[in-house]
Amino acid sequence: MNIRDSEIMAQKLAEAGYLETSVLEDASLILLNTCSVRGKAEQKVFSMLGSLRKLKAENPDLKICVAGCVAQQEGQKIIDRMEHVNLVIGTQHIYNIPELLERSTNNKTAINLSDSYEIPKYIPQVSGHPAPAPQISDSQQFQFSRFVTIMQGCNNFCTYCVVPYTRGREVSRKATDIVNEIQTLIEAGVVEITLLGQNVNSYGCTNPVTHGALPYSFPDLLAEVSSISGLQRLRFTTSHPKDLSERLIECFDQIDNLCPQIHLPVQSGSDRILKRMNRKYCISDYLEKVDLLKAIRPDIAITTDIIVGFPGETEEDFQQTLELLERVRYHGSFSFKYSDRPETRAADLDGKLSEAEKGRRLQEFQKRQDEISLERNREYVGYQKSILVENNSEGKMMGRTVTNHIVHVEQAPDHIVPGSLVTAEIIHAGRHSLKGAIPPSRI
Ligand code: SAH
Ligand code: SF4
Repeated sequence: MNIRDSEIMAQKLAEAGYLETSVLEDASLILLNTCSVRGKAEQKVFSMLGSLRKLKAENPDLKICVAGCVAQQEGQKIIDRMEHVNLVIGTQHIYNIPELLERSTNNKTAINLSDSYEIPKYIPQVSGHPAPAPQISDSQQFQFSRFVTIMQGCNNFCTYCVVPYTRGREVSRKATDIVNEIQTLIEAGVVEITLLGQNVNSYGCTNPVTHGALPYSFPDLLAEVSSISGLQRLRFTTSHPKDLSERLIECFDQIDNLCPQIHLPVQSGSDRILKRMNRKYCISDYLEKVDLLKAIRPDIAITTDIIVGFPGETEEDFQQTLELLERVRYHGSFSFKYSDRPETRAADLDGKLSEAEKGRRLQEFQKRQDEISLERNREYVGYQKSILVENNSEGKMMGRTVTNHIVHVEQAPDHIVPGSLVTAEIIHAGRHSLKGAIPPSRI
């Protein structure tokens, strides 16, 4: 979601005449888009800001702006602590960034979360900036796979999570705006879309989206988007297990271009910890949904998020997380040591674990996940897979399968251009990527 927000801010700045540079010293504006989901991400922002102090001293006209969740959370405190920062903008003001920068010419301004909020109807950026500077970065390459935000904020208040505080309440975008945005992207050459939200499954629940007189939910949106002509691949993220309905699971059978891949964060394998996390499901509900997904779409790749060392997590709770890993055999996972976040209920819970113990559990979890990922990846060896090419230069090609696995192909023919779909035979599996070869009959 931060990547998409950065794209939107870059687009808004480009429209206002800014050019992107990859040389920090050449910049007249440095904008940090920030994440505060874990303490470590937040520390990185302050250390980066500290290192920019010297640049500002050398170039007093340089503007430094902080956006995103840390900006939302800390507001004025950032300016108080870092006097070289010009502007701090909250998560819901990214669309007005050029005006806010204009206003901050003389006065330092901190802007925070507004109470009522509707996501604007913005036109997606579909190509590079209008007049690229010579030193333009690689991010200016046309991207054939794009993110489209369908909702913002979250109402779930998992006890460890800062998102409802930094991003505000859940708001769904209008279906017509989403469809129009995707149509524009496809007309420009995009072939793959990922629908984005903190909990896409509850799309249309808090501010009901209607279509004519009928209520409209996430499976309706998926069906409508999937039928837009020219869309080759459709994905979505993230799904909260409690809101993953049977109707949504069936979409994996019914919608041809919906990729067989789902990120389904479980967080813990222990019912006791899930309750303390306020996740509102238990492991047996979760497994029922996983089994249904696998039954309906046997080739589905399932990934997850795990927090180890949540306050009060015993060795037995942790063992249950490891057991879940063996049961589901996730294709991959993102795992984190629990960290206290401001305002969250978990920050006040007792039973905090030491950093060393959290580190030990994380290492043990990741070691086993890596082994399972490798075993999972080996299941693809010897099979032909369709790859969406992301780049191909000097004989080195990289693309992704429908299950979102990265495939590297050596000695790929030059005529295969990014954005095309090719068939590759998987010849080798690593933990984090696959190697493929293009069969002679497919060249
Ligand atoms: N909306 C998504 C997740 C958003 S945050 C969902 O509900 O799944 C991304 C991930 O960061 C979470 O899934 C969780 O695993 C992790 N995370 C969030 N808060 C955390 C904290 N305080 N400590 C450690 N990890 C955390
Ligand atoms: Fe955070 Fe829970 Fe909302 Fe995900 S569902 S963003 S983890 S509060």
